[in-house]
Amino acid sequence: MKQFIVVGLGRFGSSVATTLASKGYDVLAIDSAEEKVQEISTEVTHAVKADATDEDTMKTLGVSNFDIAIVSIGENIHANILTTLILKELGVKYVVVKAQDNLHGKLLSKVGADKVVYPERDMGVRVANNLVSAKVLDYIELSPGYSIAEIAASEKFAGKTLNESNLRGKFGINVIAIKNEEEVNVSPEATDKINSGDILVVMGHEDGLRRLKEY
Ligand code: ADP
Repeated sequence: MKQFIVVGLGRFGSSVATTLASKGYDVLAIDSAEEKVQEISTEVTHAVKADATDEDTMKTLGVSNFDIAIVSIGENIHANILTTLILKELGVKYVVVKAQDNLHGKLLSKVGADKVVYPERDMGVRVANNLVSAKVLDYIELSPGYSIAEIAASEKFAGKTLNESNLRGKFGINVIAIKNEEEVNVSPEATDKINSGDILVVMGHEDGLRRLKEY
């Protein structure tokens, strides 16, 4: 079972920490503010008041025994970067850090962050994508230009197999799953049918996704 450290218990950090804990994972939650630690103490395995930029304290907390750390110190960029550096130096294998902007993100990668996340920017993109197309139910950008989206299947596909629908040929899109109200068909076969009201989980380039939405 993986063990997680979450540093900085603002809105993002506390949501990460409580979600992991609710899934049964061991979570050590750290914040320098007493009230943040109090608030979360009944929901996670351990909650500790500590300054994460103090290397000795972090050593004492045994952070090197943890597999994954999430750094969610927001406004204080200096503390955010220093904490990342300390966690990597103490041997945490995978450190995920919340960044304010691209430049901050670049710097975090240089000091060893394994993954940089931009929660507000990413959520903004998702919300905007959901708003402009009523057909798009959810949307995740994989890499620039490529995304996974949940799209309500056009009635034009109803009753056709994936092969007949030819989404790959027409739109350059791969269908990862077909969902209906009862079940999710993960990794569907070419002979599987799309029915009226199905939701397609698709992956591909934005151009193809856009054309599919408008089809
Ligand atoms: P959000 O935008 O996700 O709400 P915030 O920036 O408001 O994030 O929250 C960051 C949290 O990080 C705060 O609870 C703050 O007390 C905590 N924090 C800031 N500096 C340190 C530090 N050096 N060590 C531990 N926690 C810190």
